[in-house]
Amino acid sequence: MPGEFNLIDKYFAHRQANRKDVDLALGDDCALVSPPDGYQIAISTDTVVLGTHFLADADPAAVAYKALMSNISDLAAMGATPAWFSMAISLPEIDEAWLAPFCDAMFELADAHNLQLIGGDTTKGPLSISFTIQGVVPKGQALTRSGAQVGDWVFVSGNLGDSQAGLSVILNPDDASKPHAKELVLRHFYAQSRIKLAERLRHHATSCIDISDGLMSDLKHVLKRSKVSAQLDIASLPITQQATEFYGDKLQAQLAALKSGEEYELCFTVASENKAALNDIADKVGCQLTCIGRIIANAETSLCDITLVRNGVALSDDDPAKQAQGFDHFN
Ligand code: ADP
Ligand code: MG
Repeated sequence: MPGEFNLIDKYFAHRQANRKDVDLALGDDCALVSPPDGYQIAISTDTVVLGTHFLADADPAAVAYKALMSNISDLAAMGATPAWFSMAISLPEIDEAWLAPFCDAMFELADAHNLQLIGGDTTKGPLSISFTIQGVVPKGQALTRSGAQVGDWVFVSGNLGDSQAGLSVILNPDDASKPHAKELVLRHFYAQSRIKLAERLRHHATSCIDISDGLMSDLKHVLKRSKVSAQLDIASLPITQQATEFYGDKLQAQLAALKSGEEYELCFTVASENKAALNDIADKVGCQLTCIGRIIANAETSLCDITLVRNGVALSDDDPAKQAQGFDHFN
């Protein structure tokens, strides 16, 4: 695009300190990095498109944070430590008022994770941003979706449901008058990084996934890859007071927690002997960890299924949460 090189020089180049393992960053045909011995590289790509993932009036800083954090969250889900990323950006025009805050927020979040922009591509077109992020993980220690075992406990970090509440405020003007609307919009855009937690889970978790599509459907991915089923207790879902007040009652907040996407919390499984160690990890990384259920064997008739209970008791047929049983089928 016209002015592409000025744009790259002005906004993307020389914004960060050089990591020791980056031999060549922006400016050549490829970047060159020297991964540490004994580590594997974890790689993930995510795209956000105007109109699909954010609206035209969204704060560019919030868009940058959310787009990059969703990629960082994929690294966390694998137990990987962030290292490098590239950005393919398509812009309808060079809009400095949009680009400057976008880049400032992107580099601030990247710097906080010692994550260096090493290259990318810039084209003219409808606004979209695609990040490819790379992290490192000691060989063989990555957390995958396939290791959950019968008897393992199911845990989730942080709280669930706030992000979906924030999204409904963004999409429905009527929701703006509900309790905590503004705060919940911020929760939607600004998820917490779970990288520190993930690094400590490498030796404790048997499987892990980040919640991007909703607890039910993401846990289902783990169950399918691990060939097991799970029982979740609705009463133990971690939900904020704000979400309960926003949704009007506990039950609605619980239903939201089951299907709320873009939470970027980690859902992971641990064997019984490692359960107690999680208290210490939660303290050390300053992150609430909640046990929400257990991995069970597949029933003959239902494979890789999630059974919901309330306070340990099976849901009665007229329990409104029965409908949640189908949440994992939406995706
Ligand atoms: P090429 O024609 O070889 O693809 P480009 O002209 O697209 O090279 O890019 C020139 C340099 O600027 C490359 O090193 C590329 O990685 C970097 N670059 C281009 N766009 C971006 C971007 N959006 N973010 C980071 N680096 C970029
Ligand atoms: Mg190019």
